[in-house]
Amino acid sequence: MMDLAGNLTEQLEELKMFQRVDQELGATLDFDNVLMLTMDWALRRTGAAAGAFVTFSEQDEQLRSLVALGYPNPRDKTWQLNRSIIGRAVRTRQSQIVTDLASDPDHLPEDALSETRAAVAVPIELRGKVIGVIWLESEIPDTFTAANVAFVQRLAQRAAIAFDHARLYREAARQADEMASLYTASRMISATLERPQVLATAAQALATTLRVSLVVIADYCKLKDEIEIVHAYRLATARRAAAVLPQIGSVFAIESLPEVRYTIETQRSCSYTVNARTLSETLRNFMIAHSVRSLLIVPLVTSPTAINMQQIDTVGVALVMESRHDRYFSEEDRALAEALGSQIASALRQARLYAEVRELEEIKSHMIRMASHDLRNPLGVAMSYFDLLIESLGEQNFSEAQKRYIQRINNAHQAMRTLITDLLTLEKVESEREGIWQEIDFNALVSAEVEAHRAAADLRRHTITLQLPANTLYVRGSAAQLRQAISNLMDNAIKYTPDGGLIQVRLSAKERRLLFEVQDNGYGISKERQDRLFSLFYRAREPGTDHITGTGLGLSLVRTVIERHGGRVWVNSEAGIGSIFSFWLPLAQNLNA
Ligand code: ADP
Repeated sequence: MMDLAGNLTEQLEELKMFQRVDQELGATLDFDNVLMLTMDWALRRTGAAAGAFVTFSEQDEQLRSLVALGYPNPRDKTWQLNRSIIGRAVRTRQSQIVTDLASDPDHLPEDALSETRAAVAVPIELRGKVIGVIWLESEIPDTFTAANVAFVQRLAQRAAIAFDHARLYREAARQADEMASLYTASRMISATLERPQVLATAAQALATTLRVSLVVIADYCKLKDEIEIVHAYRLATARRAAAVLPQIGSVFAIESLPEVRYTIETQRSCSYTVNARTLSETLRNFMIAHSVRSLLIVPLVTSPTAINMQQIDTVGVALVMESRHDRYFSEEDRALAEALGSQIASALRQARLYAEVRELEEIKSHMIRMASHDLRNPLGVAMSYFDLLIESLGEQNFSEAQKRYIQRINNAHQAMRTLITDLLTLEKVESEREGIWQEIDFNALVSAEVEAHRAAADLRRHTITLQLPANTLYVRGSAAQLRQAISNLMDNAIKYTPDGGLIQVRLSAKERRLLFEVQDNGYGISKERQDRLFSLFYRAREPGTDHITGTGLGLSLVRTVIERHGGRVWVNSEAGIGSIFSFWLPLAQNLNA
């Protein structure tokens, strides 16, 4: 009777314990925590003196302790599968209970504490496979009773599941980390349009995300069927820093590099180790020359563009290399490298386009400047002789048709002269030095410009209003340039407003800036064209404005002038309603601001 009651109490105790085990193991996704908790429970319940959570890897048949409690020294120990009690538990999939260690043929003295007499090894199984062993030892021979062993077996089942959850969680966390670093890397790579910077960040991103010591980027030239090394990067912390970096500018024929050809043709990455027998001569020599042990060749393939869906180009390859130790590149490593490779290829393509556009821009500006200088004089000469000719022929002798021709020639001349003058003003502003800047009374400047435009406005029956601040606002700068900027904005308001419009000019100050605005109720500009208004030669051509002549230079001059004076210009406009062109400028220090 007493026994039965005792037994029941024990079972109840055990049930309660497992409830807590389940709670605690279920509450943690931390790998180390699962192991610690398991071992802690096992030792407490069995009264063992020491114990270890041993993992078993099927691949290399290795038994290694992950957590060891009760040993005098930290224990990172391995056991032999064929010669240890732990190994026997794995092989037989049975719990091994040993009451007299010394007489067990599989026991090696270094596998336990010297005072240990008894031990138990309980296999941990998950989905029909042994994934580890719980090992416990004690100096008391009869510590491991059947009840104790049964408890450890049940604990092992629970630990296996918790262990699996924690492993999955750890894997997911690693993948999330990988995604995050991929994201950061690709942002870094596409943050610049300058090729040298793209190459540098690309190589660095590959080295850090794949944790390798050396990365080389090579351009691929399809026409010559060769690759050229354009960048090499070594992790600062990589040892063997004495090893030479591959020479920038070295060229290799693809013919001699079947491994690179394979990657270029299949657009798939592929890994090699230096002692692989099938390695090509060239690649082996390259690897030896740079002390490389493992290498991953990554294709740099651009993704299709919105403009050309078919355009998938291999622009080069990245050689991702490890010189410190042998490195196995997993499926995930390769996927990561390929994803980065395509980012790098796109960034390189962008950089190339950017360089091309910039070069064209420079050529264009240069041509324009040369042309305008060279055109101005001959045009002046031609027109003076034309006037002389007309005068000497006597205007009264011309027919109506001839008079119309003359008018057209004059109009064309006028247009050319405006274009040349605008271009030269622009160039002058860009090259003028700030040495000649002075303090300018901006109220006076604005009033004068408004007055100067009254006649032109009257011709179109426009009303101009002017609103000035009570204080005089001062700006440091070039009066001629600023006058030109204001004048261009007013010219435009007059030009791009149908007859009888209202043009409101306002000047005000806020904080340490002045705000200048010209508002009209004219044709306006639709949103999609507003971005480009301030670019050289851009003309918006809204409906109704076809007849208005211009060069598309006025607003780019305004922008150049305002930005050179430390300000900013912008537009608010709606097609068919009107526009407000505004700019702000910093006020000169301490003056009526
Ligand atoms: P343009 O010589 O053509 O006037 P600008 O550089 O001064 O050159 O202006 C660029 C374009 O911006 C003009 O062609 C016109 O389409 C548009 N624009 C400028 N000012 C106005 C305005 N006040 N209202 C409507 N459109 C304007």
